[in-house]
Formats: sequence, structure tokens, C-alpha cells
Amino acid sequence: MENVTVSIAAILLEAARFLRGAGVPDASFDAGLLLGHLLKRDRTFLITHAEEVLTEAQLENFRELVARRASGEPLQYIVGHQEFFGLDFEVSPQVLIPRPETELLVETALDLIKESALICDVGTGSGCIAISLLYKVPNARAEALDISAEALQIARRNAQKHSVDNRIEFKLSDCFNEIEISPRFDLVVSNPPYIAESALPGLQREVRDHEPRIALTPGGDGLSVIKRLIREGHLVLKTSGHLLIEIGFDQPDAVQESVDEKIWKLVELEYW
Ligand code: GLN
Repeated sequence: MENVTVSIAAILLEAARFLRGAGVPDASFDAGLLLGHLLKRDRTFLITHAEEVLTEAQLENFRELVARRASGEPLQYIVGHQEFFGLDFEVSPQVLIPRPETELLVETALDLIKESALICDVGTGSGCIAISLLYKVPNARAEALDISAEALQIARRNAQKHSVDNRIEFKLSDCFNEIEISPRFDLVVSNPPYIAESALPGLQREVRDHEPRIALTPGGDGLSVIKRLIREGHLVLKTSGHLLIEIGFDQPDAVQESVDEKIWKLVELEYW
């Protein structure tokens, strides 16, 4: 048998070429990240050890990871984590991958709440919103709700990881269905499923084929969960409380129309 030795530099080139051919946008970046993940080393190590030779087993495992990425599996599900608001969150295909645009929701929430706020995060997923808020506001507490028990398990681990687990309660609940209805929260925050069903086929394959469908869309025009939050949110909010929802770029008009101005004062709809 031929004794083939493959260096880090060579396998990275091969993987990047393969990924590019499979339509992966950041092929070199992803190749480096996957190899770093496998070797439990950072990018600097890969550069400074470019001539180092991989074992047969390492090569085989790496090629498996690269094949998964080439078939459209998101990098974050393969490596099992994603950074959000400067914190590292565990993710799996049971939760949406936290998005940079959702950091805007956290920033806005931080401007609205006081030190001792009680927060409700509806559809917490990985827990990224509630956990980031509690991390930043050391006296705040939160109830984090999700319709998925698997998601709540991940969110629970993320809360432990960032040492906020003593200030957060996780509840299996479809919106507010399973929680006490009393006006007690200072903030209800949510990044709900809001994509219209008809827009699903046009999404990136990473999103469409791998992220949980219930986290992406409630079906129909995508507005049903947003409308529920608007209809029911005031029942659990203090009079001085705020409801903060991430919505789609094309949804402000429809959302504005469903806001009852006798109940809500519309403070801000950010258009970008
Ligand atoms: N709140 C989570 C996030 O922002 C999950 C949102 C969702 O599943 N729609 O990532």
C-alpha cells in the first residue's frame, strides 16, 4: 500500500476546494473551523503547524465533517455552538442558530429594563436572548418559554454554562398557555417564528433543510405568533412593561395594523 501522508495545509486546501465546489460560500473559513474543531485547536495552530501530518483516523473524521458541511448542514450544528452577544451558546438541530440581528433585540431590551427586571422570553430556543440579558443585568430574573422540550434542555445547559441558571425558570409552554396569567413582567421579549410559509422554499438550504421548522415559521403568512403576542402580552405585563418582538423586514405594516392603540403605545419599529 502506498504510504500517503497528508499535511494540515494540503488537507485544508483539498477541503476548501471541495466545499467551494459544493456551493459553500465561506469554503476556506469553514474548512479551517472544522479541522480546528476536530483537532481541538485554534486557527493559529493550524497556520503554525501547516506541515504537520494527520493520522489516517483524523483524515477520515475530517472528511466526514467536510462531507456533512458540503451537503448543506450548518457549520454551527456540526461544531455544536455559536457565539451570540459575546457569549458562546450550545446549539443543536433542535434550536435555531442565534443570529447577529437578534443581538439588536437584546441591545434594545437592555435600554428598556431596570436592574431588577422580571423578563419573559417567549420561544427561547437556545436561550440566547434571556441568558444574554441576565448575564448583563445581574439582578434581573427570567421565565423562558418554549414549545419544544428538547430546546429547553439546551437552553438549560446554556444557562448553567453562563451561571445564570439560579435566576431563570424554563417552562414548556406554547406562548403564555402554560404560565400564570398575571401582570408581573417588566419585559416580554421574543424572536418568534415569523417567516411566511411561502418564503420557505427560497431560503438558504442550511436554514430550510436543517433548522427546526417550528422555530422558523408558524405557517401561513408568518404573522400568527406575533399577533398572539400582541393580543395576549399585556395580560402578563405590568402597566409600565414593554413587549419587544423581532419581526420580518416586510412585516412592519401588518404588525402595526394589528396593534390595538388603546392597549399599546407603539414606541419603535426599526426599519432596516
Ligand atoms: N429565541 C431564540 C433565538 O432568538 C429562538 C427563536 C426561534 O426559535 N424562533 O435564537
